[in-house]
Amino acid sequence: MKIVHPPCGREWSGQRAEHCPACHETFAGTRAGDAHRTGPHDARRCVPPATAGLWQDARGLWHRAPYRDR
Ligand SMILES: [Zn+2]
Ligand SMILES: [Zn+2]
Repeated sequence: MKIVHPPCGREWSGQRAEHCPACHETFAGTRAGDAHRTGPHDARRCVPPATAGLWQDARGLWHRAPYRDR
């Protein structure tokens, strides 16, 4: 199944993948996505995934290190 996010035109596949509507990065799962969010609950913001200690696979999905989030 392929998913496209019209605002940024990026596409990805995988039911567990999560695309951030704010910074338009795509993550392997919810926990990987959570890892790039910081700040208090009422003012959550994104940090660059690489800064959050995530790594990006060949498909462009960000994963939590060192675990493959699946
Ligand atoms: Zn984000
Ligand atoms: Zn997007």
